Amino acid sequence: MDYKISEEQKALVELAHDFAEKEIRPVARELDREPDPLKRFPWDVLEKGSKLGLRTLALPVELGGAGADVLTLCMVGEELAWGDLGTAVTFDQTWKITHLFETLTNEEQKSKYLNQFLEDDLFHLAVAMTEPSGGSDNIIPYDSPDAGVRTTAVRDGDSWIANGKKHYISNGGVAKLYIVAMRTDPSKGVSEGMTYFLLDPSMEGFDYGKFHDKLGQRLSLNAELLFNECRIPDEHRITEVNKAMEARKTFVLGSNIEAAATVLGTARASHEEALEYARNRVQGGKPIIEHQAVGFMLCDSFAEYQASRQMLHYAAWTASDRSLYDPKMGFMTKSFVSEASFRIATRSMEVWGGMGYMTEAPMEKYLRDVTSFLHSDGTNQTMRIRSMKHL
Ligand SMILES: Cc1cc2nc3c(=O)[nH]c(=O)nc-3n(C[C@H](O)[C@H](O)[C@H](O)COP(=O)(O)OP(=O)(O)OC[C@H]3O[C@@H](n4cnc5c(N)ncnc54)[C@H](O)[C@@H]3O)c2cc1C
Repeated sequence: MDYKISEEQKALVELAHDFAEKEIRPVARELDREPDPLKRFPWDVLEKGSKLGLRTLALPVELGGAGADVLTLCMVGEELAWGDLGTAVTFDQTWKITHLFETLTNEEQKSKYLNQFLEDDLFHLAVAMTEPSGGSDNIIPYDSPDAGVRTTAVRDGDSWIANGKKHYISNGGVAKLYIVAMRTDPSKGVSEGMTYFLLDPSMEGFDYGKFHDKLGQRLSLNAELLFNECRIPDEHRITEVNKAMEARKTFVLGSNIEAAATVLGTARASHEEALEYARNRVQGGKPIIEHQAVGFMLCDSFAEYQASRQMLHYAAWTASDRSLYDPKMGFMTKSFVSEASFRIATRSMEVWGGMGYMTEAPMEKYLRDVTSFLHSDGTNQTMRIRSMKHL
């Protein structure tokens, strides 16, 4: 292991923590209770964060961003998610997809969208692969012509005609640019028959369907995307035809690790509140932290937090250098850290006793939030299946 945290990274962490404390936390719990997904989306907070440079953090300096590497994004993501996981996920989703500008787009595509992305504080990004009939089959992938992405794009002169439906898409309905995986060769499995296109929501035949309601991470939006005879000019194709899976390997490098960092930030917040409560709540004549049963739970959470953080910082550091990067490290960091985070939030809630279960206390939101990463970014089972191939 050969990295240290720079002064610049420390300053960014401080900025993100301050932002989480002053801007995210004061509104997150109230918004979380709003039943309508669109009404609880924190536009104001995201705009303020963008003005601080958070939205464009992952964009290389030469393209106008801050050029943050995966480790820096993890550190900042942890702080934002300490404030609220959904808000952190909206930023992080945009960070992950920002790499499109350096790795996937040509000069023409860049000149069309990069300035808009830089100038508009509310310009977020989304990537869409999952469909009602194909989730894990795309991630593993299970390469059969009748499995995985079924949204088709059929060549028509110098355009493509797209038909189909995506669901669960993070930043769906609010993103201003989407990377969408389409089946361009239905006779092949997804590895050899899928292409990425860049879609903007004003394109004819591109609509939003349902906005999903969710258990946790409620300040981020997930929506269905519908394509009905949607005409996509070939200039919007961002990979070679049928080569989306190859492009995916490079463009999402580090995304699992960033996801892990956000969920860990929420687990840390729950642990801090558990410690505070245990120091003040008196039962059996002393603060409950002095009862071994409670102290042991807090020690286990401390150890799992530290182990997770070390693992993900190391994995993030390797993700910045392709020659050091081991794919199973990314997949297993996401599994390990999201499961540790789930255990930390569960214990934290237990420390709060009956109050932990009440919605007037903060603990139930933490637990709802951390469950999201057992499933999103690929389920933890699929992360293990992918890791096994690299053992
Ligand atoms: C909060 C959230 C945000 C998301 N954001 C996005 C997004 O931005 N873009 C996007 O494209 N998708 C997104 N998704 C979708 C996510 O990637 C999928 O939900 C995930 O890949 C699982 O697919 P599925 O839901 O269809 O479950 P299924 O694939 O039906 O899996 C169901 C269960 O079976 C297991 N399973 C499936 N296949 C196998 C197998 N071969 N061997 C062993 N076990 C198996 C799974 O692990 C799981 O436990 C998001 C999901 C969530 C929850």
